Amino acid sequence: MSDPVLETRGLSKRFGALEASKSVSLTLCPGEIHALIGPNGAGKSTLIAQIAGALKPDNGSVHLCGEDITHLSTPARARAGLARTFQVSQLAMQDTVLQNALLGATATNGRPFRLWGRPVDTLRQRAQAALTRVGLAGQAATPVSALSHGQRRLLELAIALTLEPKAFLLDEPMAGLGSEGSQNMTDFLATLRTQAPILLVEHDMDAVFALADRISVLVYGEVIATGTTDEIRANPVVREAYLGQ
Ligand code: ADP
Ligand code: MG
Repeated sequence: MSDPVLETRGLSKRFGALEASKSVSLTLCPGEIHALIGPNGAGKSTLIAQIAGALKPDNGSVHLCGEDITHLSTPARARAGLARTFQVSQLAMQDTVLQNALLGATATNGRPFRLWGRPVDTLRQRAQAALTRVGLAGQAATPVSALSHGQRRLLELAIALTLEPKAFLLDEPMAGLGSEGSQNMTDFLATLRTQAPILLVEHDMDAVFALADRISVLVYGEVIATGTTDEIRANPVVREAYLGQ
């Protein structure tokens, strides 16, 4: 297998007595969608936060394209090529769609990205191209508050796209979407993967089985299985612990 784009090695995190991550090691390889599934409270968002840099692990490391990025801040990781979306939307509701796409604020704990000396025109073109990709070019001047929930989720992906990332970290992109919205998002993620591999936290198992090349199952902070969709579907431990069969 080719070298992973993203790798965690032994990530561990405690909240008091609770072990939210227990030595989690996983890889995200070029071109793949690796889904992370598990019951509520399993530690999926905690893991994404440690990869993105919002939460410091007690132990372990994060590697992007072979480089240890564990010491880097969230904005530095974003600049290095990690694009994250959140389980709960972090958009600036009163600002327009284009303003949100331009700021790309989500990966920086609410603080806007500096423009890193890039000409604003280039960023604007990039933001507009990203809006076109997600089908929101016609809403560029619309305030986010006027968008549907599904459109907001797509806008978050446009913001991630403006980073031209090396890897996407998506925390429940289907959350709150109806069946049409979920299908729309599934179709979009199938095209997004050609841009960069995706670590996908998702509860919608139809979407997971449709999209994922590999699935890891997290239970009580621990990866209890990693495999292809067929392997995970057939795994008796997974069926009992998570799929409830
Ligand atoms: P998931 O995303 O899989 O539903 P989370 O990563 O959000 O799970 O949470 C994992 C566990 O860690 C939960 O029991 C949650 O209550 C706990 N937890 C998450 N963040 C914190 C925090 N900042 N402080 C204390 N406990 C937390
Ligand atoms: Mg979560």
